[in-house]
Amino acid sequence: MRPTFINVLLSDSNDLPSSPGRPAVSLSLAGCATKPANDASLKTSFAEEEPHHKPFKASDPIDMEPTKWAGAELETRETGDTGGPHHLVGRTLEVSSLHDLKLSDKEVILSFDDGPAPGKTERILSTLDKFGVKATFMMVGEMAEAHPATARKVFADGDTIGSHTFRHPDLDKMSFDMAMAEIARGEHAVAKVIGTDVSFFRFPYLADSKRLRTAVAMRDLVVMDVDIDSKDYFNSKPSAVVTRTMDQLHKRGRGIILMHDIHQRTATMLPTLLARLESEGYKVVTLKYKGTFAPATNLIAQASLRVLR
Ligand SMILES: [Zn+2]
Repeated sequence: MRPTFINVLLSDSNDLPSSPGRPAVSLSLAGCATKPANDASLKTSFAEEEPHHKPFKASDPIDMEPTKWAGAELETRETGDTGGPHHLVGRTLEVSSLHDLKLSDKEVILSFDDGPAPGKTERILSTLDKFGVKATFMMVGEMAEAHPATARKVFADGDTIGSHTFRHPDLDKMSFDMAMAEIARGEHAVAKVIGTDVSFFRFPYLADSKRLRTAVAMRDLVVMDVDIDSKDYFNSKPSAVVTRTMDQLHKRGRGIILMHDIHQRTATMLPTLLARLESEGYKVVTLKYKGTFAPATNLIAQASLRVLR
């Protein structure tokens, strides 16, 4: 069964999804998961069915240069206590399809989208290391090509890597063939940079379709959905990101947490978030891809054999 999405629209009215002087870029950043609604009354919590995750109207600007995303913020530092020993690391979950991606209560998967971004990604890696946990990095192909050393550092650190298209477009606004070409280009770019296949994929803006999801699964890619959106793309204080994430987690009890390693506030708040998770007894699950044992072609071959008999 398809995991439930969380669809909290502008639950923090103090969070402004833009920074002065870069409205188009900020909108794009905000839209990685959901576009913030103008109507603050839309405080939906959990969407049982198809989420309202289509972020843009046709007239909304989309920044097509993810490489410009990094460095769009001023650095703010906030230190968290990362003293050990730590007991945050959980089990390793091997999956070959979305159906295998099932978490137990108090289990989370940490995921970081849109990078790699030099400086910020390394800071995040360092925090993960201090707590002894691994995360999944959904890299934009163009970013991986622009920052190959950082991408390789993530891989060398033992974290899980997925792709997130080449240029982070809204695939739902493209033709099917164009969308699949974007997905393939992103996948190949990331794989080439890190030197191995990438088997996880996340839709930019979570803007998918049934047809695209099926086609992605046929490429042996596991689609990473989102259960808990940290909304770290809002221009809010790092501590607000922690509070927002934990509030959602308390309601849900488990889930895949969406963050972005292109934001300084994310790197800043991560020690605090991990300390909170640890103190509340959560475990961070490491995600690994397990190759499909019986591909669909085998099933077709078996069916043909049966017909021949
Ligand atoms: Zn994204």
